[in-house]
Amino acid sequence: MSPITITVEPVAPPAGRDTERAHPHGAGHGHAPDLIEPVVGFRNWRILRTGPARGQLSSPYFPVAWPEPVMRAECRRWRTPEELLDTPHAAPQTECGCGIRAYHTPTGEFSRVDYLGVSGIVTVWGRIEIGADEMRAELARVEALAVYSRWSRRQRDAAQEVATNLGAELVDLRELGAAAASYGAPPPASLLADPPPTGIRDRFVALFTSRMGD
Ligand SMILES: [Zn+2]
Repeated sequence: MSPITITVEPVAPPAGRDTERAHPHGAGHGHAPDLIEPVVGFRNWRILRTGPARGQLSSPYFPVAWPEPVMRAECRRWRTPEELLDTPHAAPQTECGCGIRAYHTPTGEFSRVDYLGVSGIVTVWGRIEIGADEMRAELARVEALAVYSRWSRRQRDAAQEVATNLGAELVDLRELGAAAASYGAPPPASLLADPPPTGIRDRFVALFTSRMGD
């Protein structure tokens, strides 16, 4: 499928939270939003163990720390001198590939094989590019981090510390899919190749079971 761009503007932040909101008129260029509820997705991070950002989440592929619960996308692509003269664009942009990435289905395998790795749940909103397997979003909030039962005490403590600092929930890795239903809905089924879900929770449980096994 070709990527689809939607705009999501939560009407109100989740109860009891100090939430940074999408700019009310910037992302959608004046168009009405396609959705008014956060879209839920899954991500992996590494927990930085050294340096000034010790104890923070980092993107697994770029040296980008996640010091706050809410991250706003910036275009970080490498630029040629000529490109530096171009006007910077807001992330995500369709052709560029920038934006905060989140997968449609749980990605717990990463945290089983990478000793710094941790998987979790995010909600995304603002401008979102939706592809077959992943989304690239303008804004993302860390909602939950998953603990793997076979982790060392040190790994578990590290994840606990990050979750506390971000105000995120800790869930068992096996519950990652089911827990996501607490935070929002997946991208509209009509935009994806999968058959429509019978219920959000059923959908996540089914996806989780098919991906994670155990
Ligand atoms: Zn870009």
